[in-house]
Amino acid sequence: MRTNRRQFIRISALGLGGVATAATAVGAGGSVLSIFDSSDEGPNINFKRYPTYCEVCFWKCAAWTHVNEDGEIVKIIGNDDDPHCNGRLCPRGTGGVGMYTDTDRLKTPLIRVKDGDKDTFREASWEEALDLVASKMKGIKEKYGSESFALLKHGSSGSHFEHLFKAYGSDTIGEPAYAQCRGPRETAFSATFGSWVGSPEPTDIRDTKCLVLIGSHIGENMHNSQVQEMSEAIDRGATIITVDPRMSTAASKSKYWLAIKPATDIALLLAWMHVIIYDKLYDEAYINKYTYGFEDLKNHVKNFTPEWAYGITTIDPSVIRKTAREMAQAAPAVIIHPGRHVVWYGDDTQRERAMAILNGLLGSWGKRGGFYLKEKLAIPKFPQPAYPHPKWGWEELGEHYPLAQMGITNELIRASIPEEDTKHKVKAWFVSGTNLVKTIPNKDLLEKALDSLEFLVVCDTMPMDITGYADVVLPECTYLERYDGIRSATNREPSVALRMPAVKPKYNTKPSWWMGKEIGERLGLGAYYNYKEYSEVLDWQLKKIGTSLEEMERIGVKKYERGSGPLYIGDGEDYEFPTNTGKVELYSTELAALGFDPMPVFTQHPEPEEGFYHLNYGRAPMHTFSRTANNPNLSDLMDENKIWINPRVAKIWNLKKDQEIYLKNQDGVVSSFPIKVRITERIRWDSVYMVHGFGHTNKKLTNAYGKGASDTEMITKVMIDPEMGGTGMRGNFVTFITDKNLVES
Ligand code: SF4
Repeated sequence: MRTNRRQFIRISALGLGGVATAATAVGAGGSVLSIFDSSDEGPNINFKRYPTYCEVCFWKCAAWTHVNEDGEIVKIIGNDDDPHCNGRLCPRGTGGVGMYTDTDRLKTPLIRVKDGDKDTFREASWEEALDLVASKMKGIKEKYGSESFALLKHGSSGSHFEHLFKAYGSDTIGEPAYAQCRGPRETAFSATFGSWVGSPEPTDIRDTKCLVLIGSHIGENMHNSQVQEMSEAIDRGATIITVDPRMSTAASKSKYWLAIKPATDIALLLAWMHVIIYDKLYDEAYINKYTYGFEDLKNHVKNFTPEWAYGITTIDPSVIRKTAREMAQAAPAVIIHPGRHVVWYGDDTQRERAMAILNGLLGSWGKRGGFYLKEKLAIPKFPQPAYPHPKWGWEELGEHYPLAQMGITNELIRASIPEEDTKHKVKAWFVSGTNLVKTIPNKDLLEKALDSLEFLVVCDTMPMDITGYADVVLPECTYLERYDGIRSATNREPSVALRMPAVKPKYNTKPSWWMGKEIGERLGLGAYYNYKEYSEVLDWQLKKIGTSLEEMERIGVKKYERGSGPLYIGDGEDYEFPTNTGKVELYSTELAALGFDPMPVFTQHPEPEEGFYHLNYGRAPMHTFSRTANNPNLSDLMDENKIWINPRVAKIWNLKKDQEIYLKNQDGVVSSFPIKVRITERIRWDSVYMVHGFGHTNKKLTNAYGKGASDTEMITKVMIDPEMGGTGMRGNFVTFITDKNLVES
């Protein structure tokens, strides 16, 4: 990816100078990894332990960072009291110390400068870099209004910059975790049950009798406590039904693997509803008392028989019937899992609605073994003035998508391109902890936006691809070196977890709370930063919820009694769902009022041309997106991805195991790097599969550069969800280039 005005800079040796300041090198202990390795190697009185919560993925497991007498981090282990991990970290979490030891880390602030015709970075002091950011923020505010400075964020650091932006007067905020990930399921489950799914998902896998996974890769996607509960459920004999064109790890543990034809899931879901309704497999008393629109749904699915679905999905009608009965027998202890990365074909809200409706028909919401009623503790806000009211923000940018509940990244990017027909214009970005180059599918759009920006700040721990486009790069210290906001997430019982520094920040890096405060004070927003150290904020907040920083530094996690009532809805209990009708909406009054299909409809999606295959992508247990590809501990476990190809297809193409091939998509885009072939029966003949997050193009990511291929590079066709603006990315097809000369010529 190249832009014109904003010349991409591969962070140079100059830019990576920096001065090692505080910490010493880390010992080898941190590289010890195994699945769920939480073994405490016996008491070691010389270790000090510091509480943290993991930042390697969004599950935020609470942990202890162990530091030896020499100030070296020797291991990170799970906190036994934490419901997110139950004392056990996943391989990525155990390897989190690699984020700290990675010698490719950003080490000092960088500022873009002209060197003849070329752009390059020069090292800068924090004073200079922050002065520049603040003066540009002032300038944008005076010229266009603060709304024109946007924040694109991910992870814990983003919340510190969100505070800065809201104080500055901009609510032009978006994160790929919504429109490029889980947005559609939140819209769909809200329309059905009146509640977001949220994170962690309130799936009661611990007590389920039947778990249905549709394109959801629990086990490869390491949602820690979910994986633990799923493995216990399997041991208990729970039925697992996995719907996936690929035999994932979860599929290999399942009683039923439904190797569905890609893009046909809604047809299967409608057929399941047909069987449950027309074979009278539902609980009539439950349907009458708690649901709205049953008769509408019954009429709607009348013709969607398993035989109808067979012609679309290629799944045998007898298997559709058998699996529907398995679900009904288990009900209400059954979970049609909402999934996580659910932006596939642009009709994703409707597919997720079908999954929510099926849960509604089976009565699993609020029931043991289905979905528990989640709860979390509200953390009081540290005293500060009210935020100003921006004239416009993320809601106005997403006005064409009435059910968007957060900023739509792609709309924010579109508003950054002058030629695009948008009412409001974005002129500058602050990007925190998200490598947009590997996250945003439509590269043309991203490239044009990057070219048009007047100013771009990137804050990260690593020289990820996006840093190459920045005017200023702010190097953040890792989660092991900083205080952060209190973790309070939904779960069965409320709990809070503390993150504190186990070691001083390496090199010339800083925590994002400090950067936000420094910029804020330069902007005259000192009233929003009425403290010297972030630990003061934490102590104040913790005291308000009956603990203190001193106690939390000792215990790491504190649990609270539920305050909202029982975990489940009692049988026959009067219960009002927070929807328009107070019922589980099988027929959505909200969607109908907005002119959308109130019940899901199957739409045929394009098929690949001959010689092309559906591109499916997913996760590996040792990596999170593209951000861990360079982690020395984790790249040691998996340093490249491979392309999964069915033996029948491999034969046609005369492909051999581990042969390197290039991928070319339907729009003629060729992968920057070759990828090795994995020939396996575990993938349908019409599809290929690769793990997301590889094929890095920045040479300064020395472990990750050029290893494997990037799936995002192949995703040039995007289907927008009309309800909430998500970017469906699974409608892309690839073919193979086996002759390297054809790529280079
Ligand atoms: S699931 Fe793994 S990577 Fe994610 S927060 Fe937990 S330990 Fe860290």
